[in-house]
Amino acid sequence: DLSDVAAPVAVAVEITAGQGLSRASGLDDALFASDGQITKRPVRALTLSALAPRAGEVLWDIGAGSGSISVEWCLAGGRAVAFELRADRAVNIRANAAAFGVDHRLTCIEGPAAQALAAYPAPDAVFIGGGGNAALIDQLWEILPAGTRLVANGVTLETESLLAQQHATRGGSLLRIDLAQAAPLGRMRGWDAARPVVQWSVTR
Ligand code: SAH
Repeated sequence: DLSDVAAPVAVAVEITAGQGLSRASGLDDALFASDGQITKRPVRALTLSALAPRAGEVLWDIGAGSGSISVEWCLAGGRAVAFELRADRAVNIRANAAAFGVDHRLTCIEGPAAQALAAYPAPDAVFIGGGGNAALIDQLWEILPAGTRLVANGVTLETESLLAQQHATRGGSLLRIDLAQAAPLGRMRGWDAARPVVQWSVTR
């Protein structure tokens, strides 16, 4: 009996008439099933650029949310392991993998990432989009082979200070992404500022 199995939120990627599915990273947020917890399109494009996927490479996506980063990594020809704490989000990750036709290359692991990581084959790149802390980064530093790319995004002050500290001790580059979108302001328009995202990129 499958009646109590949670139904996927969306199952088919619908492309507006006259448009194909772009081969560049940073697909429309609306193409992904999510509860709103998704790395937004422009930040996702910059994140994929920093992760630098190549065909056949493996990504660990830690705190995968909707799985949008993993899906775009797989569309670039890679394989991904998406670690997500919440069961409801794991449902979205699996639905998105299926909708984009990459479910044979995207594995979703539900639960806290730290305990699960070591059981999987070493990745070429790691993205930390959630659940990042000093202990997790120490753990990754222990187990990742030299040459692994690591990218971490943070939006809170706490994560920002963690990433600034990691950058000071481990090097790499630290980018602050400050974006704003034009939106109605009375009868005129104004800039609607997004929360800044701090992105730390480093090679182990
Ligand atoms: N990049 C994602 C959004 C990430 S939101 C996307 O584009 O959809 C951060 C996610 O990290 C949340 O879904 C949260 O549930 C998850 N998370 C937080 N702590 C975690 C942990 N310890 N292990 C795994 N996932 C975790």
